[in-house]
Amino acid sequence: MSLNFRCAQRFGNLVPMNTPVSENLQRVRQQIELAAVSAGRVAEAVKLLAVSKTMPAQAVREAYAAGQIAFGENYIQEGVDKMAELADLPLEWHCIGPIQSNKTKLVAENFAWVHSLDRLKIAERLSAQRPAHLPPLQVCLQVNVDGGANKSGVSPHDLLALAQAVAKLPQMKLRGLMTIPEPAENEAATRAVHHQAKELFDSLNAVGLNLDTLSMGMTADLGVAIAEGSTCVRVGTAIFGSRH
Ligand SMILES: *Cc1c(COP(=O)(O)O)cnc(C)c1O
Repeated sequence: MSLNFRCAQRFGNLVPMNTPVSENLQRVRQQIELAAVSAGRVAEAVKLLAVSKTMPAQAVREAYAAGQIAFGENYIQEGVDKMAELADLPLEWHCIGPIQSNKTKLVAENFAWVHSLDRLKIAERLSAQRPAHLPPLQVCLQVNVDGGANKSGVSPHDLLALAQAVAKLPQMKLRGLMTIPEPAENEAATRAVHHQAKELFDSLNAVGLNLDTLSMGMTADLGVAIAEGSTCVRVGTAIFGSRH
């Protein structure tokens, strides 16, 4: 299967070009509700994070006007610049991209959430640099469930130790796990990764970590992610259109 064919297959009907952000959001909310109800869950159990990376501040304004509050950014400086342009709106910003040591201060001072935490050293810096006047940073640990070689994320083997260490840090609240499955040939393979992530999530709760957030599912796989227990889908393309 060629890559082009696979992209068309994965994104095909989901993303009509040039439809307004408000319409796209409405369609995505319907998809979430349908997936939740089919899985015997309620739509309110699944939070929608609108991924606005590479999109202009104006697109975020349009989404806000359509009722969207939570936005995700991958590139930290880009996110912080956008926040400044949108400081008049009461938005909730989530960092979902890799964090280098030299960017922890920017993250600690500007974001409400981090989904992409995978190292204790970064966690310790974020906690120490979180300003005292802000609520604790809400964090998910990114876990590399399928062992994708060039991907971030803590291995399932090291997850418990990291979770226990992060849970003890001040100015930080451990909320859950995040995962990004490798693009798979079929839905069953993607679904198996989501299923494993849910099992890891449950196993941490079984030892008392009290997690409530399982961040998984993007434009192409939000339905299966919700069927497997996602509580937060991170959707970019289906809301804002294609990024290239
Ligand atoms: C870009 C990105 C998304 C959104 O992906 P889409 O396929 O555009 O919905 C979600 N999560 C992460 C971590 C991303 O980098």
